[in-house]
Amino acid sequence: MAESMMGLKRSCRCAEVTKNQIGETVTLMGWVQKARNKGGIIFVDLRDRSGIMQLIFENGDIDEEGFAKAGKLRSEFVIAVTGRVEARTGAVNTNLTTGELEIRCTSLRILSEAETPPFAVEENSKTREEIRLKYRFLDLRRPDLQRNLMVRSRVAQLTRAFMANEGFLEIETPMLIKSTPEGARDYVVPSRVHPGTFYALPQSPQIFKQLLMCSGYDRYIQIVKCFRDEDLRADRQPEFTQIDMELSFVDVDDVIDVNERLLAYLFKEILGVEVQLPIQRMTWQECMDRFGSDKPDLRFGMELKNVSEVVKDCEFAVFKNALVSGGTVRGINAEGQGGMPRKKIDKLVDFVKDYGAKGLAYIAIAEDGSFKSSFAKFMKPEEMDALIAAMDGKPGDLLLFAADKNTVVWAALGALRIELARQMDLLDKNEYKFLWVTEFPLLEWSEEEQRFTAMHHPFTMPMEEDWDKIDTDPGSVRAKAYDIVLNGTEIGGGSVRIHQDDIQEKMFEVLGFTKEQAWERFGFLLNAFKYGVPPHAGLAYGLDRLVMLMVQADSIRDVIAFPKVKDASDLMSEAPAAIDEKQLKELCLKVDIPDEA
Ligand code: ASP
Repeated sequence: MAESMMGLKRSCRCAEVTKNQIGETVTLMGWVQKARNKGGIIFVDLRDRSGIMQLIFENGDIDEEGFAKAGKLRSEFVIAVTGRVEARTGAVNTNLTTGELEIRCTSLRILSEAETPPFAVEENSKTREEIRLKYRFLDLRRPDLQRNLMVRSRVAQLTRAFMANEGFLEIETPMLIKSTPEGARDYVVPSRVHPGTFYALPQSPQIFKQLLMCSGYDRYIQIVKCFRDEDLRADRQPEFTQIDMELSFVDVDDVIDVNERLLAYLFKEILGVEVQLPIQRMTWQECMDRFGSDKPDLRFGMELKNVSEVVKDCEFAVFKNALVSGGTVRGINAEGQGGMPRKKIDKLVDFVKDYGAKGLAYIAIAEDGSFKSSFAKFMKPEEMDALIAAMDGKPGDLLLFAADKNTVVWAALGALRIELARQMDLLDKNEYKFLWVTEFPLLEWSEEEQRFTAMHHPFTMPMEEDWDKIDTDPGSVRAKAYDIVLNGTEIGGGSVRIHQDDIQEKMFEVLGFTKEQAWERFGFLLNAFKYGVPPHAGLAYGLDRLVMLMVQADSIRDVIAFPKVKDASDLMSEAPAAIDEKQLKELCLKVDIPDEA
């Protein structure tokens, strides 16, 4: 039987009771974590989002009826108790903030009973994630998830406060739009009023925030849902949240300045972590050369070395062929891993195949300086010595090489570097290494489409000093684009935008859009640009990823209240689902699923 709240008022949350309140009477409400009946005395751990408080029910403090009720308490019952705050008589629990206190209860109401939950509500649950997601409302009671969502809330609140203080206005942009220029597939929403037409859900507010700059709002921020219908990878969600911003009359340094102060503020306020400003900057080219990645993890070294020059005359076909066809040979030195068993090295060879590499060549140097190598027989001894020297190979080191097109070598060794760091336990979650990656290429060659595509988006400003190469060598033109990277994860990115007609037109031409196509897609932005447009730039963070790194969660699902799984479905509500005939009719839609689906 569920009792009411009539006449009751909660004093505070469980873990908000302090030692100063010893002797006072308080009223607490929450969920029963566990109840232990020791005959004449009943102990209950009461839980709410603040933590746990121990309750004591003893005949005499509480009337007989109340004591009998306490005897019925089971996990997840929702109760209200009134009682006296006391210093703990039994063992003090140093794991709890309230570990030195307990409440001697004088009254109890059972506000709601609970069935036995399918899994225990406890920290570090071992229950399978599918079960936890199906019962997400229970999962969300667990202290680790509650902490994550509280940090997320603070990030949002502090961001708003900080940005308001910097003169940013919070402005909402529409969710039902035409379509955004980012590369991914749109989620679409059918229009009932205009049968046969569709809205798209925004992949980002990109065009709208640029329009707001044209309208003079100067500094815009929004914490906003974005939607991308991509084939999901482990750490992607079909809907995710951005901290999105745009600023007028600025260049790269202005965007970087306000953002690194924002990051330093958030990390200081929430984690007590001091972020050293200015944050280190590295060009895209340097990142690729040194780390094989445009989001390098700087918590450890193990840098890539280009050894093409060293091996250029050798007879080893793998190296030779790569060099002849314009590729490179690069290596990394996994220090101290020279004793790695052959089987484990073979696993690394398989690992890089996922990144398009054909394999890995290796030299394992023993402690006595002798070495085993997969390719020594094709090399002269002095060539081997030169190669080991170029890699700073010492006794006990493992040298690994990839030879291929640059892009393949970077991807393979970049990923291998992270994999080895994981295996060698070099990744300290308590260390936060930020990096600005700058000067991205403006364009990226798409093998599939046989044309250049915009690496960031078509409105990204080229670097002034490279613009004269746009016809002769478009691939070499760099952009005023930047990413902010934390511990090997891109947490945000943005760019200075093109605000000049002639550059924008040329850009569309290079991207292979006719004037008509460009106007069809982005007409309202191009039109706005005709009526006075300020130079502007912006950036967006992935809030989910940022919070994930802050709370050191393993997955973004752990920082999203109601996440979806890899196939974009929600295991709890069972979305997506069919809609009924009537809805389809109203929308003038017919479903036609091909057989193979
Ligand atoms: N709209 C971009 C994105 O979602 C960010 C930006 O350029 O401001 O990646």
